[in-house]
Amino acid sequence: METAKAVPIRQLPDTLINQIAAGEVVERPSSVVKELVENALDAGARRVDIDLEEGGIRLIRIRDDGGGIAAQDLALAVSRHATSKIGSLDDLEQVATLGFRGEALPSIASVSRFSLSSKTPSSEHGARLDIEGGKTGDVQPHPHPTGTTIEVRDLFYNVPARRKFLRAERTEFGHVEEWLRSLALARPQVELRVSHNGKLAKHYRPVVAEDEQLKRVAEALGQEFVGNCLTIDHGVAGLRLHGWVGLPTASRSSGDQQYFYVNGRAVKDRVVAHAVRQAYADVLFHGRYPAFVLFLELDPRRVDVNVHPAKHEVRFRDGRLVHDFVFKTLHEALAGTRAGANALSEP
Ligand code: ADP
Ligand code: MG
Repeated sequence: METAKAVPIRQLPDTLINQIAAGEVVERPSSVVKELVENALDAGARRVDIDLEEGGIRLIRIRDDGGGIAAQDLALAVSRHATSKIGSLDDLEQVATLGFRGEALPSIASVSRFSLSSKTPSSEHGARLDIEGGKTGDVQPHPHPTGTTIEVRDLFYNVPARRKFLRAERTEFGHVEEWLRSLALARPQVELRVSHNGKLAKHYRPVVAEDEQLKRVAEALGQEFVGNCLTIDHGVAGLRLHGWVGLPTASRSSGDQQYFYVNGRAVKDRVVAHAVRQAYADVLFHGRYPAFVLFLELDPRRVDVNVHPAKHEVRFRDGRLVHDFVFKTLHEALAGTRAGANALSEP
């Protein structure tokens, strides 16, 4: 019998490291759109233009009017573990931005033909950086208004195994629309324009006044939801839950209109899902699902957002407390519907 031998260990090249990381955060065009639009929001953008071709497989272009990136920082922005958003463990424990891992740009750039153009308010000229096949070009002067444009062409052109899993244009664009809906609900003040193959597909107009937020909800989910929901706003012991929940009579056959945000970040959370289900348990028929758009706000130190690279999940320091708070708030809000009377006022 042959004896086992030690296999030499080697350090992986940067491009391969980035492609491995891309496997976690970049699944399809919608994940690219999510990461890039989140960056735009973190940069304080008031308006974001999203242009796609062929479901985003051929082209994703995201342009924002945020604070931009200084020319001397462009190369850093696309290198791994480089971020302007946190600098210490203490920062990590109270993250207020959507991003913080410094992984999205290098990951996306490693699996596409990538370009980044930007200008800050204090610089006179813009600059641009191109990356293809793991090769980062030189920073070039490039005209650009204050803000940032990122172009991602031919997603997964160099990763055939991934490209194979991409679906039809319409399916991919559907995923993009869904992510944007979720972002649009959370940031009603931000204007979002989405075009697909040269045609304007969706325009979320900015909502200025706090009391007009339902307009954005109507843009995202339709009048049907807005006309059949209750307004929620309840706070106790540093927890606040606000938003809108669908009336039991407007239940759905799937959970397709369920949006939950923790400190402005869209998340899927089992604790919360259970609390909502319980609150609706005695007002919904089996197999029916409530529609809701709910925002939970709490001290960022009470929730860990560093659970998964794509950040779809969080971990509450006190899950029980959050569960009971969500359950009680919704249970009480739904009390009137339980009595069978139309005692509840329309929003
Ligand atoms: P993260 O968002 O986790 O910091 P990214 O790889 O997504 O990591 O981005 C790296 C850095 O590039 C960000 O921290 C930010 O400083 C800068 N950046 C990326 N996109 C933008 C943008 N649209 N506007 C301004 N700065 C940006
Ligand atoms: Mg980011």
